[in-house]
Amino acid sequence: MAVDETVRQHKYLLDESQMPTAWYNIIPDLPEPPPPPLHPGTHEPVGPEDLMPLFPMALIMQEVSQDRYIEIPGAVQDIYRQWRPSPLFRAHRLEKLLDTPARIYYKYEGVSPAGSHKPNTSVPQAYYNAVEGIRKLTTETGAGQWGTALAFACALFGLECEVWQVGASYDAKPYRRLMIEAFGGEVHRSPSDLTNAGRMLGANPANQSGSLGIAISEAVEAAVADPTVRYALGSVLNHVLLHQTIIGEEALKQMAMAGDTPSLIVGCTGGGSNFAGLSFPFLREKLAGNINPRILAAEPASCPSLTRGVYAYDFGDTAGMTPLMKMHTLGHDFVPDPIHAGGLRYHGMAPLISHIYELGLMDAEAVPQTECFSAAVKFARTEGIVPAPEPTHAIALAVREALKAKETGEETVILTALCGHGHFDLPAYDAYLNGRMEDEAVSDERFASALSTIPVM
Ligand SMILES: *Cc1c(COP(=O)(O)O)cnc(C)c1O
Repeated sequence: MAVDETVRQHKYLLDESQMPTAWYNIIPDLPEPPPPPLHPGTHEPVGPEDLMPLFPMALIMQEVSQDRYIEIPGAVQDIYRQWRPSPLFRAHRLEKLLDTPARIYYKYEGVSPAGSHKPNTSVPQAYYNAVEGIRKLTTETGAGQWGTALAFACALFGLECEVWQVGASYDAKPYRRLMIEAFGGEVHRSPSDLTNAGRMLGANPANQSGSLGIAISEAVEAAVADPTVRYALGSVLNHVLLHQTIIGEEALKQMAMAGDTPSLIVGCTGGGSNFAGLSFPFLREKLAGNINPRILAAEPASCPSLTRGVYAYDFGDTAGMTPLMKMHTLGHDFVPDPIHAGGLRYHGMAPLISHIYELGLMDAEAVPQTECFSAAVKFARTEGIVPAPEPTHAIALAVREALKAKETGEETVILTALCGHGHFDLPAYDAYLNGRMEDEAVSDERFASALSTIPVM
């Protein structure tokens, strides 16, 4: 076969001096403020003092900040520069394979030391805890990405790091655990017998594969038990979404370099942080009337909190220890099937994303995992990057839309977040390539049973 000389790899790079120096807080730009988190006992809005056993004051203040821009500390910028600004690519070869007139761009976050977007927030979180004299951080991890990113950041700031890894992922992904340990972190399989929550929830055989909700209960319990320890969350909260906006701020500049404007921005949503990180700066421009992209969340069919959950106050964890957050939720004791995209197995959704969805400023679609991996393999064989299982959901929707553009002839410019590589997720590719991957349909009864546990307000 002749070599095709017409396809050129287009890579849009910023230099270090163009790296954004502030994160973007979308809250003051929204037409209505998001509902506040509530105290689980009193149902009154939580104050900063309620959160002090969990987070350092600097992050609590970011959580409730009304400032549009928050400066990135110099020490954090120095670490970001190890891999930032990250590249934006035009997927010419994928477009050619799909024979589509659509133009597809992807912002690649797999270049970070952890292989995903997670260090964009783990580094500032470790920094603010270190500045406030904290000794150790606890956390949960689903796919292992967040645990890896936090262990990396803790190592840089001299903090200890203790991680509860969701059982199914602990069993399936020994390499993620080993990477956390290489960075100096300590890893437990969740549910564990180290916490009351783990012992109580682990007694139910249905919980043996674990869930993010259970692992969060364990990590929170361990943090509040010791005043020198705090808890770190890798998604969902306002300050986490805030830190990820550096992705979209860079992508805005890179799309301008490419001379193109997205008509569709699509990202996968577990708790919503990489999606928010890419889309919020573009949403700012949309709210200002400068551009008008459709903003689309891709969620797994087996854990579809936006498309099949309800918008209600619910707990962020399974044992009911966190504040109540108004969000799209499947119910805090929903245990999703052990699909390969472990990072998307969360019963809830970021309150900020949920609010923006309710305001009608974005859409969501659910995708079954075999369609995701079919798209991922096309992507890998044309673009040369093996995606993590989570962003394959966004790639699948990008492929759907690119094929639609072929039918309608409508000008379509797609921007997606390739938020991580899949080098530690190759067993998922093994299952797909060897015909062992299934799309499990979640019954209405199972959704209904989990939804019935949402607190009545
Ligand atoms: C953690 C993770 C996710 C899911 O979390 P979000 O907060 O929704 O971004 C998605 N993709 C990758 C690669 C992850 O590591």
